[in-house]
Amino acid sequence: MARRFDALVVGAGIVGASVAYHLAEAGLGVAVLEAAPAPATGSTGKSAGGLRHQFALPENAQLSAESLSLLKGFSERFGVDPGYRPIGYLFLVGEDRWPVWRAAMQGLREAGLPVQVLTLEEAERFVPFLPKGIAGATYGPVDGVFDPPSVALGFLRAARERGARVFLEAPLIRARRQGNGWRVETPSGVFEAPVVVNAAGAWAGEVARRAGLFLPVVPVRRAIYLTAPFEVPAWPLTVDTTSGVYFRPEGPRLLFGASNPAEPPGFREGVDWQWFIEVLMRARARFPWFDTLGFDKKRAWWGYYAETPDKNAVLGEHPGAPGWYHAAGFSGHGAQQAPAVGRRLARAILSGSDELVDRFNLGRFLRDEPLVEPGVV
Ligand SMILES: Cc1cc2nc3c(=O)[nH]c(=O)nc-3n(C[C@H](O)[C@H](O)[C@H](O)COP(=O)(O)OP(=O)(O)OC[C@H]3O[C@@H](n4cnc5c(N)ncnc54)[C@H](O)[C@@H]3O)c2cc1C
Repeated sequence: MARRFDALVVGAGIVGASVAYHLAEAGLGVAVLEAAPAPATGSTGKSAGGLRHQFALPENAQLSAESLSLLKGFSERFGVDPGYRPIGYLFLVGEDRWPVWRAAMQGLREAGLPVQVLTLEEAERFVPFLPKGIAGATYGPVDGVFDPPSVALGFLRAARERGARVFLEAPLIRARRQGNGWRVETPSGVFEAPVVVNAAGAWAGEVARRAGLFLPVVPVRRAIYLTAPFEVPAWPLTVDTTSGVYFRPEGPRLLFGASNPAEPPGFREGVDWQWFIEVLMRARARFPWFDTLGFDKKRAWWGYYAETPDKNAVLGEHPGAPGWYHAAGFSGHGAQQAPAVGRRLARAILSGSDELVDRFNLGRFLRDEPLVEPGVV
């Protein structure tokens, strides 16, 4: 006997949890199907927790802005501290990117978003000894960090309170269209619903394939490294676009990393220590004070970005597959977009459209109209 619901959400990371909550809040009978024995153990548990308005695509900035307003009221509404700390976000931008980046940030300012264009002297007050070749800097005073697993668990708890069911160790094995809906097979039984949301993160391409659909989302391994403890100044999350190196305080340590553009897609496991050497060399070349720091190799961790060809999310209904929705492919900015994405995707499912969901449609790849976002870190 199949269990019947109004909507099935595949994946209990922060995106699936947010979608499940917003659908349950609207009165739908929701089941969340999660492959792992616990929620939020995929990329949601591996992120750097950064949240920023500084994106070149106004739609990305808009999603972060909406997420932040949800996070600000999160404790009162969900009884869970989302861990939001406005430590600020500083972009140090090289000559090659500066004209485009400055114009984009000025556009966000004109739209009323909290983004500042700094002189180099102003930037140096945040982080001393700026590297050479910086053309300009931008800063987000309310940007910062939050705790994605806590937010995911908060959404799931609230979804359960509204009647949603969460099935753990219930991976989607196969899905097919049946009648007016979808029939989903898992080792925990068969589920049926008119709506399925693929929120399986780095596994979303594989989940789509198991439903007979093509979704260009691939896993790409990323690592985060930590220094040994020292008296970390109150630096903002700082991104040096020339080297790709980013860092921020994490308790008594500095958390840092850089995305390896040559990392091949695939479920490769473990911290990439060869890449650590490269990141360290880049960091030392750009910020000589890195030379004075020790490192704590045991505290490094790794996870997957879910990457699309243009490194922006795919949202909305799959063309030609009524009732099958995607919310995946967020690269390194999915945790911060998830609260808003859940709300907007629920709106699209219930009312047929949402302007931001429509903007991130899958069809853009078929039309060869990628979304250009130079602010992917
Ligand atoms: C090193 C690193 C740093 C990052 N830093 C940031 C950052 O600073 N800010 C930011 O916003 N984002 C950041 N991200 C990205 C962010 O973590 C992700 O975009 C976000 O967590 C995606 O959430 P999700 O719910 O889509 O995916 P996930 O959390 O991966 O959840 C997907 C779930 O689907 C489940 N699943 C897989 N297959 C199946 C199946 N067949 N059936 C059922 N369930 C299945 C998985 O077990 C998993 O729980 C970072 C990511 C990494 C790896």
